[in-house]
Amino acid sequence: MSIQTSDSSSSDYSKALSLIAAHSHISGLGLDEHLQPKASSQGMVGQSQARRAAGIILKMVQNGTIAGRAVLIAGPPSTGKTALAMGLSQSLGQDVPFTAIAGSEIFSLELSKTEALTQAFRKSIGVKIKEETEMIEGEVVEIQIDKSITGGHKQGKLTIKTTDMETIYELGSKMIEGLTKEKVLAGDVISIDKASGKITKLGRSFARSRDYDAMGAETRFVQCPEGELQKRKSVVHTVSLHEIDVINSRTQGFLALFTGDTGEIRSEVRDQINTKVAEWKEEGKADIVPGVLFIDEVHMLDIECFSFINRALEDEFAPIVVMATNRGISKTRGTNYKSPHGVPLDLLDRSIIITTQNYNEQEIKTILSIRAQEEEVEIASDGLDLMTKIGTETSLRYASNLISVSQQIAQKRKSNTVEVVDIKRAYLLFLDSSRSVKFVQEHQPNYIDDRGYVQIGGNG
Ligand code: ATP
Repeated sequence: MSIQTSDSSSSDYSKALSLIAAHSHISGLGLDEHLQPKASSQGMVGQSQARRAAGIILKMVQNGTIAGRAVLIAGPPSTGKTALAMGLSQSLGQDVPFTAIAGSEIFSLELSKTEALTQAFRKSIGVKIKEETEMIEGEVVEIQIDKSITGGHKQGKLTIKTTDMETIYELGSKMIEGLTKEKVLAGDVISIDKASGKITKLGRSFARSRDYDAMGAETRFVQCPEGELQKRKSVVHTVSLHEIDVINSRTQGFLALFTGDTGEIRSEVRDQINTKVAEWKEEGKADIVPGVLFIDEVHMLDIECFSFINRALEDEFAPIVVMATNRGISKTRGTNYKSPHGVPLDLLDRSIIITTQNYNEQEIKTILSIRAQEEEVEIASDGLDLMTKIGTETSLRYASNLISVSQQIAQKRKSNTVEVVDIKRAYLLFLDSSRSVKFVQEHQPNYIDDRGYVQIGGNG
């Protein structure tokens, strides 16, 4: 599975730094082989109805036959809607794209709303390209630079030998030019696509510090321990439609894939790509893999975005769109109309809806203890009971936030274990939302109001 976020580089950073994210304890949907949810598995706890439904969606995606469907996960705050989507993304296969965005990300100064949505849709469609090529695989045993033909570029002759030591491939000067960029050294194991001449480095049989460039006109022989000759190798690459768009967009160039700064891509480019990909599909050279586009906080979208989604779901290449919201009856942005979850009725009508429910005490306790393990925080058993009580009376997310805060407080008194006293302290220091509302109401006169005024002589 490949997960794309609007800023994949930041998720790479957090991986590299081993940051503990809100859903890092989730490694799947926690279902058995019959897609039935286990009570607590793969970091997922309870919410069995919704997990069972997500299991069916998972099967639909894996079968790859159903695309262009909309799924809405609706439920109160912190009831695991995002967690469910993350569990789904972890369970998809390696080659199924999963893109996650928040509704608010669509609004930026750089891209129009429809362009941002189009990119998100196309990131969620995989194209599995199959290549049957003749490959030579072996170890570079000899590199010769022929002085007589050196003219501007490094030119010369590369010889690779395969295990039987009889098959020797000699490649002409053109190849060597490519090699200079690839920095292939004698001793490297490489494969060469005979048709295109493309060289792929497969690794090194042993380390050699000397650079190819430094070898000058000399010839160096390296013993060839292993290597194989492989012919007719089938290579499969999976890329997203968006990646193909960017690579073929002359204004941006492929480097935009790394910076994420793709700008608007012209619709003609996309039309051409669609035609090409459809041709590859006809010829059996490519398979389309409809993935999942997850739009969290979907109520942040406005009526134009919803209308776009309605249409995009009918496209030839459409992913499964999973949306999540915690809103009840609310206004659809950009209109004066109210609708369930702020989602217009026409989109709602074509969506299948999964609901999540509030957790019971035991489920909250299990989730909190999984989170404590994930954050490597040891909590005394009566401490976990107290946190669970706080979680039931406030919210799971608030109680979850107390884990790391209480740990800091425990460490101040040189304890490695979080005790009741630390949790009480944390609870007093940091307000949950209902205490915060109460506090604001009590101190309302001291706050700046909508008109920018502070009431003179306010209490507090
Ligand atoms: P919101 O509506 O506020 O966006 P949400 O329904 O998307 O909330 P999450 O963010 O998924 O809620 O859940 C809050 C926290 O609780 C996250 O850390 C999440 O991983 C964890 N969590 C929620 N439900 C479960 C669950 N069933 N099993 C394990 N962890 C869960």
